[in-house]
Amino acid sequence: MADGQGTTGAILVVGGGISGLTSALEAAEVGNDVIIVEKSPTLGGRVAQLNKYFPKMCPPSCGLEINYQRIKKNRKIRTYTMTTVKSVSGKPGNYEVTLEIKPRYVTCNCAVCGSCASSVPDKFENEFNFGMDEIGAVYLPHEMAYPRRYVINKDALSPESIAKLSECKNGGIDMSMSVETKTLHVSSIIWATGWVPYDASRIDNLKYDSSDAIITNMEMERLAAPSGPTNGKILRPGDGKEPESIAFVQCAGSRDENHLEYCSYICCMATFKQMTYIREQYPDAQIYVFYIDLRTPGKYEKFRGQRMQDEKAVFIKGKVADIIPEEDGGVTVVAENAQTMKKIQQKVDMAVLATGMQPSAAIDGVPEGFKTDANGFVISDPARGIFSAGCAKKASDVATTTQNSTAAALKAIQVSRRGGING
Ligand SMILES: Cc1cc2nc3c(=O)[nH]c(=O)nc-3n(C[C@H](O)[C@H](O)[C@H](O)COP(=O)(O)OP(=O)(O)OC[C@H]3O[C@@H](n4cnc5c(N)ncnc54)[C@H](O)[C@@H]3O)c2cc1C
Repeated sequence: MADGQGTTGAILVVGGGISGLTSALEAAEVGNDVIIVEKSPTLGGRVAQLNKYFPKMCPPSCGLEINYQRIKKNRKIRTYTMTTVKSVSGKPGNYEVTLEIKPRYVTCNCAVCGSCASSVPDKFENEFNFGMDEIGAVYLPHEMAYPRRYVINKDALSPESIAKLSECKNGGIDMSMSVETKTLHVSSIIWATGWVPYDASRIDNLKYDSSDAIITNMEMERLAAPSGPTNGKILRPGDGKEPESIAFVQCAGSRDENHLEYCSYICCMATFKQMTYIREQYPDAQIYVFYIDLRTPGKYEKFRGQRMQDEKAVFIKGKVADIIPEEDGGVTVVAENAQTMKKIQQKVDMAVLATGMQPSAAIDGVPEGFKTDANGFVISDPARGIFSAGCAKKASDVATTTQNSTAAALKAIQVSRRGGING
């Protein structure tokens, strides 16, 4: 690829999740220069956090590894991790973009030998596992981390540890690194910054913060994952109990004007998927699913049909009004059955809140001049050569995400080939 300063004609892809990777690869494989800017230390986004993904129920490595291999082979793609966009100015065909790059404190000399990681005792809350365990302050963010380079959380290190790390014999550590800025010129921009789990502690009646037995659907993904905090065993956080009964609370904060007014499209499918995680480990566990509607559009109907044949699963049409923590560590889920109009109080060992996907842009914002809708989803602006993709555009599954990311790549290629919107 051309030098970082001379990237005119290149496409900037912001966000290195499955949508950003798709857009980047589609554009690069037809010859475009592409720059990926990723906020975290690794590519892969939220898909890397899933235990398995529907409909095929394969581990995320099968989808991500192929993309990593394609990226490794493609000299047209340049990646900046731990990087965000600070400003965008200019016009289609010639945007000037300023990046801010956070220090990794690990240099390209790192041999990934891991001796630094084991030489210091310091730890901090593991964000990848939603704080359900800790990770060393010198760390690979997760087992599929790509690029496969260590990261150092300097704030979590003692002065003695910092001194020790500076002794790396390969010159792989540089504790004097600081925040850098970099300016690029690109022709068009794809915004693929994805989503964050809706903050469950904001849904007062579901009492997420009041009991370890109440978890979110993304926490369930990590509990079930072999690389997760319990090595894949689904146990109640806090006391480690093997759950004999589990309730899924659908639309937790979704389709609700006080929280997320839209349907996140995947939460019902995520629950059906997570029922299989439970069944694999606990054949006799009782499952309750509280829902408003069960939405599994199109090709997903079959998946739902199979899961609904589970004889130990009860589906209750009724919005959950309250979850009451109990002294034995369990919780009681309170709802009204909309079909029988009877009030239900169901005691369970664990409750899983099916929280929706909120666009990252709703939290972090977007550069000046970019457009978002009322919920924070980024609106494509073809006249300006700016396109949104994946869950930055709309809440969706991986299949839909990759489709609209391919479409965004095509539009961005057209702008870059024309040298601007009007040629
Ligand atoms: C509980 C649950 C289970 C799910 N299970 C499935 C499933 O089984 N099958 C399925 O098809 N879908 C599933 N999904 C949906 C799936 O996770 C999404 O479709 C997918 O993550 C969308 O990818 P994305 O690249 O758009 O966003 P993300 O995965 O969020 O990736 C966005 C990337 O952008 C980066 N980023 C964010 N902000 C910035 C910034 N300002 N600058 C630079 N980089 C930034 C992030 O760090 C991240 O790497 C599930 C969702 C949930 C909630």
